[in-house]
Amino acid sequence: LDKVLSGKPVAAKIRQTIKDLISSHDLHPAMSMIQIGNDPASEYYVQNIVSSGAKLNCRVDLTNLPSDASQKDLIALINTSNMDTSIHGIMLQRPLPKTINEYQAGLAVHPDKDIDCLNPINQGKIVLGEDGLLPCTPLAVLIMLAYYHLPVSGSNVVIVGRSPVVGKPLANMLLWKKPFANASVTICHSQSRDIASIISRADIVVAAIGQSEFIDSSMIKKNAILIDVGINEIADADGKNRYVGDIDYNSCYDKALAISPVPGGVGSVTTALLFLGLVKACLISSGINKTIDDFLGLILSDK
Ligand code: NAP
Repeated sequence: LDKVLSGKPVAAKIRQTIKDLISSHDLHPAMSMIQIGNDPASEYYVQNIVSSGAKLNCRVDLTNLPSDASQKDLIALINTSNMDTSIHGIMLQRPLPKTINEYQAGLAVHPDKDIDCLNPINQGKIVLGEDGLLPCTPLAVLIMLAYYHLPVSGSNVVIVGRSPVVGKPLANMLLWKKPFANASVTICHSQSRDIASIISRADIVVAAIGQSEFIDSSMIKKNAILIDVGINEIADADGKNRYVGDIDYNSCYDKALAISPVPGGVGSVTTALLFLGLVKACLISSGINKTIDDFLGLILSDK
């Protein structure tokens, strides 16, 4: 059993799966990536996607709208990408300016091109357990657990954080009647009473709150599996910036059965999955439907 759940080998296997699918189906995947304004953290993420796309033979058309772009400008751009048959996926970079209604923007993205799972049709499919385009971060958590053969079926999973991009879809995915899911799920959030006692009952804890090292060893049960989705930038005593998760890694390491690091954990898998989603969307446009079970089979093969 691996104690440190590194995302690197998982991401490498996903990238290999992407390359194999592209060559075996002769695909030319292309996504439209829309960025509004120039938030520095977003800028880093966007450049990472552009360079990953180039390495994977996936075209990334980046459009940068000014920070005062209107809802109408954004919807017009989304509609252009919806109608462009050479574009298979649309990705809207967050955070969006306050002037943009994220729900309306998500509604505008065609469900078959919705590689970031913003459209309520795709969110609804998750709740119903229907196959569709899936959100990258929750999927990264499920794939990490499957890749490292960690027991999810029948387990008590506590998710800390209820955002529409991470906590809420993940909770529904963990409830799927699938061998890699089938969990009992509890979600905590900022209004939950006595979070520590809820976390202490979890076989698996998934932290997605955006609070540096919030979960320490006193809150977890012995041999808990810890998945850290949080990415928080903090300043060291010597003034240098570094990234930490929502889980206090050093405090929890000995007591945990397995723990994902930050950086180098879930985050590294997420970007690879954005391109796997793009490949899925590209296959959909050619009338080929590959399900989550098909993709998992490919990612977990020869392990
Ligand atoms: P978000 O939209 O800000 O949601 C945070 C959630 O955490 C909310 O549900 C909030 O509760 C809850 N929360 C905040 N403080 C809490 C506390 N002290 N106790 C309990 N619950 C608390 O954040 P997000 O977009 O889901 O992202 C969460 C973290 O994951 C961030 O660090 C983000 O950078 C990271 N992230 C990582 C990836 C990746 O690929 N690894 C992708 C996306 C996000 P309320 O609902 O009550 O406000």
